[in-house]
Amino acid sequence: MATAPQSHVPLPYVSTRGDAPTLAFTDVLLAGLATDGGLYVPQSWPTLGPAPAHGSHRAYTDVAVEVMWPYVAGTIERATFETIVAEAYSSFETSDVTPLVPLGDGHYLLELFHGPTLAFKDIALQLVGRLFEHELTRRGERVMIVGATSGDTGSAAIEACRDRDVIDIVVLHPAGRVSEVQRRQMTTVASANVHNVAIDGTFDDCQDLVKAMFNDRAFRAEQRLSAVNSINWARVLGQIVYYVVAAERLGDRTAPIAFSVPTGNFGNVFAGYAAQRMGLDVRQFVVGSNRNDILTQFFTTGSMTIGEVHASHSPSMDIQVSSNLERLLFELLGRDGHAVAQMLSRFRAEGHVTIDSDRLKILRHEWSGARVDDDQTLAVIRDVWQRTGMLLDPHTAVGVAATAACRRDPDIPIVTLATAHPAKFPDAVEGATGVRPALPPHLADLFDRPERFVHLPNDLAAVQAFVRSVART
Ligand SMILES: *Cc1c(COP(=O)(O)O)cnc(C)c1O
Repeated sequence: MATAPQSHVPLPYVSTRGDAPTLAFTDVLLAGLATDGGLYVPQSWPTLGPAPAHGSHRAYTDVAVEVMWPYVAGTIERATFETIVAEAYSSFETSDVTPLVPLGDGHYLLELFHGPTLAFKDIALQLVGRLFEHELTRRGERVMIVGATSGDTGSAAIEACRDRDVIDIVVLHPAGRVSEVQRRQMTTVASANVHNVAIDGTFDDCQDLVKAMFNDRAFRAEQRLSAVNSINWARVLGQIVYYVVAAERLGDRTAPIAFSVPTGNFGNVFAGYAAQRMGLDVRQFVVGSNRNDILTQFFTTGSMTIGEVHASHSPSMDIQVSSNLERLLFELLGRDGHAVAQMLSRFRAEGHVTIDSDRLKILRHEWSGARVDDDQTLAVIRDVWQRTGMLLDPHTAVGVAATAACRRDPDIPIVTLATAHPAKFPDAVEGATGVRPALPPHLADLFDRPERFVHLPNDLAAVQAFVRSVART
């Protein structure tokens, strides 16, 4: 293997709205959102090198370094990056990190839920927490991460940030409105820099409090507020890897492949698009949604209309406006940031947007979408359980149902991304199969661990006072 050159010109990143400064990777990492309200994307897509020998089973971390290095080179030392990647994935329960499991007829599940909090968000966040720590330490800075969660994101962010000297983290959740497994995954973390707050209110109230803290410029600067939300480019980057890993595990990463992805904010499936732009021969992307089906509307009709958010058995996909779709629109509109900005402001003003029929044709060539309601979701969990003895979580079941509805070419293998462990959503799984899925060993005593959280009213001043009281300087 060739040794990496000692110095690299960093890959520039541009905003999807065309009006923000071009930045290098580590600046994009800490900035999150661009100053023009857009999302950062690489100025050009790096390409994958030559494929490894047919059938070679490379370690996940070797693929990870190969795929991600062109995006970070010039901003982090190669050896440091290799160490960060190795540490990020040492916390996973299986040595191959993301096992590929056959379901029959060329349909596979890629299990992305073997990280500390049992959802695919660990794969990116375990990396992002370490990248934050590395870069903040190098700069002699620290941050206060604040976030709101309806379930999965909060625990994954907490596990990513716990025990890091340069980070404090405060996570708000709506009191009594997250599942007990989800709450305990957050509140049983006994780390001095981790703080949970139960707010008397809804998830939207929690999100509004977080937004209000960011909009309070003085408070934002005083506390050095930061976020690790799903629009951060580094989260997308960490997810590109497993698309390439899946193709390699099938034996030949140059062969055609298809993916089906249960989708909410569009971050996961956009990483698949990035893998395709890097050279992976992806022939079809299937987007699965629950009854909140604005994305499947878009991929079938070319139009999106904002509606109300409805609760479903797959709560991490109960989303109407998918923030990461902006990155795909940027590509679809020929990387014209001003056209993206215009389209999105029309969407915000009118609650509706349509792309022209030529662009819809291009899109539909590779993309399809299916809406899967709660009854179908439970039926799929039951059916797979009866056929294979495997328990699927409701999000994964949406992906499996979408594969059945949309798969185009039975000769091309299709990989459905399994985004959560069934034990994270035990009620739905038990309702479908009569079997209550058990937590994996590292969480087996979750219900015996002591919880630590404060309970606060839905009041900005009270939450800000709490944040001030826990900040380490
Ligand atoms: C977050 C999440 C999703 C949706 O992923 P996006 O990147 O937002 O599309 C799907 N399934 C589970 C279990 C999740 O936690």
